[in-house]
Amino acid sequence: MSQVIEGHSHTRDLVESCDVCIVGSGAGGAVLAAGLTERGLDVVVLEAGGAFTSADFDLDESKAYSRFYQGRGTQATDDLAFSLLQGRSVGGSTTINWTTCYRTPDRILAHWAEHHGVEGVDSASMRPHFEAVEERLNIHDWPEELVNANNRVVLRGCRELGWEAHTLRRNVKGCANSGYCGVGCPVNGKQAMHRTYLPDALAGGARIYADVSAKAITWSGRRATGVDAEVLDRRSGRPNGIRVRVDAKVVVSSAGALHGPALLLRSGLDAGGKVGKRTMIHPVCAVTAVYPDPIRPWAGAPQSAASHQFVDRGEGKVGFFIETPPIQPMLGATGPKAFGEDMVAFMRHLENASTTLALCVDGLLPEDDGGVVTLRADGRPSLNYPTRPFLIEAIREAHMRMAELHVAAGATMISTLHATPTALAPDAIGTLADLPYGALEHTMFSAHLMGGCTMGTVVDSTHRFAEMDNLFVVDGSVFPSSLGVNPSETIYALARRATSFVADGVS
Ligand SMILES: Cc1cc2nc3c(=O)[nH]c(=O)nc-3n(C[C@H](O)[C@H](O)[C@H](O)COP(=O)(O)OP(=O)(O)OC[C@H]3O[C@@H](n4cnc5c(N)ncnc54)[C@H](O)[C@@H]3O)c2cc1C
Repeated sequence: MSQVIEGHSHTRDLVESCDVCIVGSGAGGAVLAAGLTERGLDVVVLEAGGAFTSADFDLDESKAYSRFYQGRGTQATDDLAFSLLQGRSVGGSTTINWTTCYRTPDRILAHWAEHHGVEGVDSASMRPHFEAVEERLNIHDWPEELVNANNRVVLRGCRELGWEAHTLRRNVKGCANSGYCGVGCPVNGKQAMHRTYLPDALAGGARIYADVSAKAITWSGRRATGVDAEVLDRRSGRPNGIRVRVDAKVVVSSAGALHGPALLLRSGLDAGGKVGKRTMIHPVCAVTAVYPDPIRPWAGAPQSAASHQFVDRGEGKVGFFIETPPIQPMLGATGPKAFGEDMVAFMRHLENASTTLALCVDGLLPEDDGGVVTLRADGRPSLNYPTRPFLIEAIREAHMRMAELHVAAGATMISTLHATPTALAPDAIGTLADLPYGALEHTMFSAHLMGGCTMGTVVDSTHRFAEMDNLFVVDGSVFPSSLGVNPSETIYALARRATSFVADGVS
């Protein structure tokens, strides 16, 4: 089987031609590439990130974020209120994601049909696609006996309070349960795209170029003609002067939210001003608690339990769902807005600390249109994501509920990630209601970037871009709203569904 072609192997400008050029090799691009080669089409994939193997995934946090993440792990909204985590390598965010898999909830598919004009994306038509990706990626229930102490807190606290809680499904095979999914799997247990659909695409004849960043899609009238790209020096991340030109019958943006809309905007394609609008992030806030017994939150499958008790809070309210993050020391240290002795105190408790996350379900209220991606002067995306009052209400509620959960699970101290550090005894958590909430008042982040090329507006229900006959968008940017569950399986399944539409575009 042929290999991924890496940037350092080029000594001169490169010209390619193919049936379909896909920009981006993550959840959307990989599944699509495999499906198209299975149909006998000639496929080129351009990926700005590097190609890595298990040998590169050495669990060293100090190198991993700068090598495997967009913006070397420093992306944020333009007001710096939210850190934005996205992957950037062959396999995209799936290479470093935490492996939680859910089918799209029926209520979300119904919402898309009713409010965004999405057609043919219902639970019955999606079922075969879910089943196929679950089979290929070995998506299955994670047994409760393997749930780590950090996730057990969610199960224990929710059961004590009578709240809904469940174990999760993961795309793993031979998982060593190390907990280091977020810095790349060293034992190839994670069934990420670079281990599954991309090898399938290579076996089918696809050419996958790593370290190649698409600058713009070229087009004339209603037809895309190809992609102009440049080779990046992997170490510096900067263009090394070698250009890549791909002539293609069909072009697909699978560059993900933020970077996909940016590619279209750089290409002069804005769908009447709609590209970049309705960018959703499942806004996340966190509460940390200290327990009498060791939790060791860096060890064991990072996410294996969740609660959807508050995912639907009724009319006019933003819902949230509760999960846990892995807390390796470096990631943990970026959580609190603490310095000096406060930081030392926080880190000293790490072994006995459990953190829960509340992920807010944005884009469902009529007045919630999320954030807007525009271009910076150098062509990179900028995200303006306002922290609106209805979101602040949900974040306050989430803090109080997560504190309640930790107390029920037996915590002896509760701390939030506020700018002024808080540490509360279990009987004092009522005072959380009086703390300030909102942008820059406390740590917030997202690892679920969605929307910006909304289905029903920027692309139609077959993923075809509104202003073009042979340009498609196949990735998480097509979601009209967030999901209320982790997004990867929805993207895999939508990409599998999109394969026939993209193939039909080749004529
Ligand atoms: C730390 C972390 C943990 C996560 N955990 C989970 C989880 O447990 N469960 C879950 O469901 N989801 C999780 N996610 C989210 C999930 O992985 C993503 O939603 C999903 O991978 C997005 O798929 P995509 O195809 O839209 O984009 P991506 O998978 O991000 O792929 C896009 C690719 O396009 C490339 N690209 C961008 N611009 C260009 C360009 N101009 N030229 C060439 N290439 C370009 C990027 O480098 C990237 O590799 C996590 C994400 C992160 C960051």
